[in-house]
Amino acid sequence: MKNINFEKKIKLSNYTTIKVGGFAEYFSKPKNTDEFINLIEWANANNQKCRIIGAGSNLLINNIFLKGLTICTKRMNSIKLDSNKGIVEAEAGVMLPTMSNMLAKNGLQGGEWTVGIPGTIGGAICMNAGTRNLSIAKNLLSVQAIDTQTLKIYKINKDDINFKYRFSPFQQNNLLIISARLLFEPKGNIEKLLENTKRILKKKTETQPYDLPSFGSVFKNPINAYAGKLIEELGLKGFKIGDAEISTIHGNFIVNNSSANSQDILDLITVIQQKVLQKKGIFLQPEVRMIGFDYP
Ligand SMILES: Cc1cc2nc3c(=O)[nH]c(=O)nc-3n(C[C@H](O)[C@H](O)[C@H](O)COP(=O)(O)OP(=O)(O)OC[C@H]3O[C@@H](n4cnc5c(N)ncnc54)[C@H](O)[C@@H]3O)c2cc1C
Repeated sequence: MKNINFEKKIKLSNYTTIKVGGFAEYFSKPKNTDEFINLIEWANANNQKCRIIGAGSNLLINNIFLKGLTICTKRMNSIKLDSNKGIVEAEAGVMLPTMSNMLAKNGLQGGEWTVGIPGTIGGAICMNAGTRNLSIAKNLLSVQAIDTQTLKIYKINKDDINFKYRFSPFQQNNLLIISARLLFEPKGNIEKLLENTKRILKKKTETQPYDLPSFGSVFKNPINAYAGKLIEELGLKGFKIGDAEISTIHGNFIVNNSSANSQDILDLITVIQQKVLQKKGIFLQPEVRMIGFDYP
């Protein structure tokens, strides 16, 4: 019998950056790939639904009791870097800011933009996280993933993954990312890379609400428009439902002022969608992933 460690009835609000979320029936933070695979095998053998979270920085989890097993990958954080070839091998739970700082210190160029994104590699690949015209897909070589239904483990090359803007097939299939191989440009100027990384983080923290709990951009940018600008043009910044507020700093962020709950946040998302549709004729598609809601 393999060693399976999980806790019962764990509050997920402690595992999301917006500090909202109900209870997980079973919850586990595996330390490495072996423990991760054992947990998935256990869930499969016991007919338990298995869901995965990384740093919970793009998640709205309903305030309900979530049956089944929730796995948080944050302790699967081993990372290897080849500074001559520019290749990085990272377990799914490695945090992007950790990777970004390591890249700069080792003279690897092209990952500076990830420094201000408080998510894991696995979450970033699932979301195809990015900024402007850059996204994680650009640097990805391959992923190792496990199918929760068949328990088969695959190595999937980037070219076989249909990435789109803030979308990857991992949002819809049964595959959970175990680890990833990425490629960056080697032999860069370390001093300049460190400086650029610092500058990017400073700009992000000055233009986005980093001092309050949030889940980053609420909506995807529509074609040829910015969601934040559309919301700002309608005078919605500062609009509140309960303790959930449209950030006064950035229109595409919802912040939790203290005790917002999942319904306040979902209601605020719906109000924004209705107003932008009425006044601008554009339907804003959420970027944030929802768990435990009947959301289409
Ligand atoms: C202050 C702030 C700033 C942000 N800035 C940006 C930004 O500039 N650009 C950007 O794109 N995003 C940004 N985000 C959003 C978020 O940080 C990214 O989407 C991040 O990549 C999500 O990673 P995560 O580990 O937190 O994933 P989670 O939020 O935990 O999960 C997101 C999705 O990924 C899935 N997932 C997680 N791990 C795995 C895995 N191992 N295998 C398969 N699926 C998995 C989950 O099931 C879920 O569907 C920001 C968020 C915050 C709070």
